[in-house]
Amino acid sequence: AQAFNAAVEAGRPLNAYIVETPEKALEAADAADKARAAGDLKPLSGVPLGMKDLFCTEGVQTSAASRMLEGFTPTYESTVSAKLWQAGAGMLGKLNLDQFAMGSSNETSHFGNVVSPWKGKDGKELTPGGSSGGSSAAIAARLCPAATGTDTGGSIRQPAAFTGIAGIKPTYGRCSRWGVVAFASSLDQPGAMARTVRDNAILLEAMAGFDPKDATSLDLAVPQLEAGLSSSLKGKKVGIPKEYRPDGLNAEIAALWDRGVEWLKDAGADVVEVSLPHTRYALATYYIIAPAEASSNLARYDGVRYGLRDLPDGAGLQDMYAATRAAGFGDEVKRRILIGTYVLSAGFYDAYYTQACKVRTLIARDFAQAFEQCDVLLTPTAPSAAFALGEKKADPLEMYLNDVFTVPASLAGLPAMSVPGGLSSEGLPLGLQIIGRPLDEQGVLNAALALE
Ligand code: GLN
Repeated sequence: AQAFNAAVEAGRPLNAYIVETPEKALEAADAADKARAAGDLKPLSGVPLGMKDLFCTEGVQTSAASRMLEGFTPTYESTVSAKLWQAGAGMLGKLNLDQFAMGSSNETSHFGNVVSPWKGKDGKELTPGGSSGGSSAAIAARLCPAATGTDTGGSIRQPAAFTGIAGIKPTYGRCSRWGVVAFASSLDQPGAMARTVRDNAILLEAMAGFDPKDATSLDLAVPQLEAGLSSSLKGKKVGIPKEYRPDGLNAEIAALWDRGVEWLKDAGADVVEVSLPHTRYALATYYIIAPAEASSNLARYDGVRYGLRDLPDGAGLQDMYAATRAAGFGDEVKRRILIGTYVLSAGFYDAYYTQACKVRTLIARDFAQAFEQCDVLLTPTAPSAAFALGEKKADPLEMYLNDVFTVPASLAGLPAMSVPGGLSSEGLPLGLQIIGRPLDEQGVLNAALALE
């Protein structure tokens, strides 16, 4: 009990947890002791996990880091978290995130930003990345061995890169979205975050699997990811997409990438250059499709069904909607809703939304063609190391640029992982990204293992 209390307490200066539930971790530890005595240990028996506060947890406040969900305590458990408890894990607490998972720095949270355990030059406080920044900070600070994340456009991979840990977003549909607060439904995907590739394999195996309650869930057996781990890449081909090396790419990131290529060659892989010609449209495409879906998904927060209700005296229904949304949503969420409703409006639908959907298909086709020549792709995860808190907060476009290497795989629904690739000259972690064929989480994990 002491250790679990200490772990959540140590998270307070980082602002990693929104809700602390060490008693649940303790319950799982007690159950694990009994299971051990009975010779009946499960894959995650007694493992204390952090849960991104986007997963609904029965009887435990779930906020998506938004004031809009103030007072919301789900009466049901998300499929992914239910699977984790069935596998023997216990919950240490609900981890902070960008509000409704919209952001790349954890600064859009209603509960304040998370602080990375890493420090910049002159002790400057850094972002742990986002949106799964509570997860990345807690793992990097050794406050929990592993945590869940969700990734819509990079929210597992970029925070993993910024904090020197590993994180995997599986193929879209591998992990159920049921009970996960929705951001952009055609992109949202739960995944694993932990210090090592092996821990990611174990956690993902427990989270994944068919769920009839999610219409986009894949009805396929979950591969035995841990048993299938191998760091030999003999006979494998690794593709290097040339469009990911734009003019002006940070020299340290370019050097990191070159090192990664050498490591994969050392593991036996052949390296080939490939082309993903529509890469330069990916960011714009993502920032049309994700807000469009968000504006539709977030329409449910009307002051009636969930959480916050602001009902001014004598107000009618429209006034209640307006007051509730004005008070409940943060600036970034409002920005996304406005962009989303704009690109879906009758006059602009074809020019923006339809066009973005077409380009999305072209991007997916690029990947399919590249995978005729190689088994996995290697790229950097992010264009820089972690930036300082406050540095990009005032400029949304600057912030969006951070997602340039992660959104293409999201648009194509592909499995992708970030692993630590070394340190920058300032001593900050840098991440390498492996992108795989649809359903080939094993190939992604194995290439990541070779880089570890
Ligand atoms: N940073 C991206 C965004 O703000 C991705 C977020 C995510 O993957 N949830 O939309």
